[in-house]
Amino acid sequence: MDRYDIAVIGTGPAGLSAAVTAALRGKSVLLLGSRDLSEKLAKAPEIRNYLGLPDVSGAQLAAAFRRHLEQAGLVVTEKKISAVYAMGAFFALQAGEDMMEATAVILATGVVPGKELPGEKELLGRGVSYCATCDAPLYRGKTAAVIGYSPREEEEAAYLAGVCAQVLYFPVYPQQPDLPETVRIIREQVTAIEQADGRRLVRTEAGAYPADGVFVLRPAVAPDRLVPGLEADGPHIPVNRAMETNVPGVFACGDVTGTPYQYIKAAGEGNVAALSAVRYVDRLKKEMPDVPAL
Ligand SMILES: Cc1cc2nc3c(=O)[nH]c(=O)nc-3n(C[C@H](O)[C@H](O)[C@H](O)COP(=O)(O)OP(=O)(O)OC[C@H]3O[C@@H](n4cnc5c(N)ncnc54)[C@H](O)[C@@H]3O)c2cc1C
Repeated sequence: MDRYDIAVIGTGPAGLSAAVTAALRGKSVLLLGSRDLSEKLAKAPEIRNYLGLPDVSGAQLAAAFRRHLEQAGLVVTEKKISAVYAMGAFFALQAGEDMMEATAVILATGVVPGKELPGEKELLGRGVSYCATCDAPLYRGKTAAVIGYSPREEEEAAYLAGVCAQVLYFPVYPQQPDLPETVRIIREQVTAIEQADGRRLVRTEAGAYPADGVFVLRPAVAPDRLVPGLEADGPHIPVNRAMETNVPGVFACGDVTGTPYQYIKAAGEGNVAALSAVRYVDRLKKEMPDVPAL
């Protein structure tokens, strides 16, 4: 398997800035996220505080970022990372059934919309999952409930519909879901996930729905769920001025490190995180010259 010098998770201004800086420093970069880059970029009608671009829309800024990626020879690998495992001299990144490797990892995942549900943490791995591709076979011929926080999660719900006997879909967004007819769409606010009679129960403000497995699908995974052992302060990752986290080789930047939530702060932190990751990779290569890389 190819091992990249640096994996960047997230394609908002923080991740893009980190990827461009690392590429300019001659490192092999695996840039993971969305080809649409960031919803928060796309949604901004006008931006007045990005230096050098006093009157720009989110769409225009995204187009400029895309051109910069092309110039730096970077492509976005469209994958949602569900876990990052420290393996000693490198990290293994999981996206569904795919595994990738990198010497250092930069987390630029933005802030997770939606608070953790009561029961979610306690039942994680015991009937609650964040990855349909990984865990769907466990619920073959059974009932799965999906709590989807954005239309992008519908793809995973449709996949489950082909495996499970029944799929209940709870959309946490205003758009009408585009799902196979067999999927039952329940537009009720989910208040908790519970355990009852050996099954799970999705409780809403209006009722309770038994299911064998519950998939909680958000555009981003909470940082401490993404990287085992990573220190988190709610949705944020504490970092020092070098954007280092408590896990050696893992760096963080952008909204995920805390407020203020601003494009230019995200891009600036991405630059610092990349330079720190480059230093880390260079040091490791000096200490362990046999470590394979791309
Ligand atoms: C409507 C709106 C208007 C705004 N206007 C302004 C403004 O005028 N000025 C300003 O300075 N700021 C503004 N902001 C704030 C700005 O959008 C954020 O501060 C900025 O986008 C943060 O960048 P980021 O790279 O940290 O995260 P994001 O832009 O949120 O990007 C994170 C990316 O990571 C991806 N990701 C997350 N988890 C994973 C995973 N597990 N695997 C793969 N990819 C993952 C996401 O899909 C996303 O693409 C606005 C925000 C909104 C919503």
